[in-house]
Amino acid sequence: MSQLKCRYGDDEFHYKVIYLPPREKQRRRKIAIHIHPNGVVQVDAPEDTDATEIRQAVNKRARWVVKHLAEIRQRQHEVLPRQYISGESHFYLGRRYMLKVHHAPQSAPEVKLQRGRLNVSTPDTSPDAVKGLLWKWYKAHAKITFQRRLDLRVEQVPWARKSLPRVRLLTMKRQWGSCSPKGDIILNPHLVKAPRDCIDYVILHELCHLREHNHSPKFYRLLGLLMPEWQSVKAKLDNTSELLLNH
Ligand SMILES: [Zn+2]
Repeated sequence: MSQLKCRYGDDEFHYKVIYLPPREKQRRRKIAIHIHPNGVVQVDAPEDTDATEIRQAVNKRARWVVKHLAEIRQRQHEVLPRQYISGESHFYLGRRYMLKVHHAPQSAPEVKLQRGRLNVSTPDTSPDAVKGLLWKWYKAHAKITFQRRLDLRVEQVPWARKSLPRVRLLTMKRQWGSCSPKGDIILNPHLVKAPRDCIDYVILHELCHLREHNHSPKFYRLLGLLMPEWQSVKAKLDNTSELLLNH
């Protein structure tokens, strides 16, 4: 991974390049540019791409990058810290949803994802009450989603398929997952705010720990077999973690 600079008019920005291993039986990958919500610019390139090719690809999209970075700077001013009021954005499965708080004095509190919005109806619209309702909703969805992703991914993992690990939720300050000596997979409910490939990455990481209990080269070899693009996915998750872990 390396940090490079691109100049566009009076602006300049830094970007990092992540080289990805080729995928078997797939068309050649192209260079892809992502901008993470925290403003980190990431370029994913096939392993054999040369530096000139990458520079050209970045220059070609420089105008787009500069515009996006300006928008992010503006947004960062607006969103932090969380207030739990209408208009604020909240994340779910990698997408940003606008929160809408409805005052409903007669009905039971309810959280619903509807038409691209996160709707909260409640008799008590205080930030603490809304925060509590949302957190309950996130945890319920985390439980279902994590189990579903594990069921899907465990097919690839012979050593976990035999005795399916249990998923447990644990809210952590700066960690996405871990595994217990008994072989349970422990996941942070905040992870349900991340895209599915990030959730899969954390699950596969922990499943590899059931086999290799440290971060040895053997561990990373296993992980690479299960998810060849894990470095890019990890970078994406790392770059959004500050936003996603923000209550
Ligand atoms: Zn680990």
